[in-house]
Amino acid sequence: MTTASAPVLIFGGTADARRLAELLDGAGVPVLTSLAGRVREPQLPAGEVRVGGFGGADAIAEWLVRHRPPAVVDATHPFAARIGPAVAQACAAAGVPLLRLERPGWSERPGDRWRWVADLDEAAAALDGRDARVLLTTGRQGLASFTGVESAWFLIRSIEAPEPPVPPRHEVLLDRGPYTVAGELEVIDRHAIDVVVTKDSGGAATEAKLEAARERGLEVIVVRRPPRPDVAAVASARDAAAWVEQVAGRAPAQVTSRSESR
Ligand code: NAP
Repeated sequence: MTTASAPVLIFGGTADARRLAELLDGAGVPVLTSLAGRVREPQLPAGEVRVGGFGGADAIAEWLVRHRPPAVVDATHPFAARIGPAVAQACAAAGVPLLRLERPGWSERPGDRWRWVADLDEAAAALDGRDARVLLTTGRQGLASFTGVESAWFLIRSIEAPEPPVPPRHEVLLDRGPYTVAGELEVIDRHAIDVVVTKDSGGAATEAKLEAARERGLEVIVVRRPPRPDVAAVASARDAAAWVEQVAGRAPAQVTSRSESR
């Protein structure tokens, strides 16, 4: 089915994806956001929403051929490692223009004590044997990497309660950003945290923990981003909206660069 008003497809699950949907919807561009369905009560974007996996790259390509969106934006989280390659493969097969919207990662500042690791297993290895009190902010998924770390105590912060396997010594703190520096300092002090573990997610909503850790002189273990397919990319929802409007023939906009701030 090919119609002039077929919605632009956004692969979402991030604040950037919601911002893009809001911008496009506000500009009168029909938009459909696809969510994986991991969170029971997701923050819903403007426009239409579909929920659940497609069943891999071929199924996404079939969907694209059937629905013919004028463009696709992959605005999934930098640590969602599987969906990006699947979307890239599907868009290439179906001949649909694709843009990646990805916020920049964080950078170390003076006073930081960061230790970069390749993945969650390496983060766990860096803690093994240490009698540390750890604020673990890497999310519900991947906690299995830390189950063998018996020496450390973990404050697991996640949006929804984690399911086993989890590290043996832990407490769960259910919370959802954005966070403030004052709030993060309170959590660090109340739980006598001495190490913070984070993914290099980037963005303002969750970076307060980095400033709080700097203020308290804490070590931060930072997990590097997984590799992404080589597709055209922008760093802000505004740049992505400009690209969509251009591709969909709505405005003489230009894709700029990753440098525009949000
Ligand atoms: P993933 O490992 O890349 O994807 C696993 C599978 O989930 C995919 O193969 C696909 O299933 C489905 N999927 C993922 N994103 C989808 C989307 N936007 N729409 C439809 N199906 C999707 O991803 P993940 O790490 O499990 O993350 C799931 C979602 O949570 C992502 O959309 C991401 O933006 C969001 N999120 C992830 C993180 C994180 O740290 N990983 C943090 C915040 C938000 P099929 O193979 O069946 O098509």
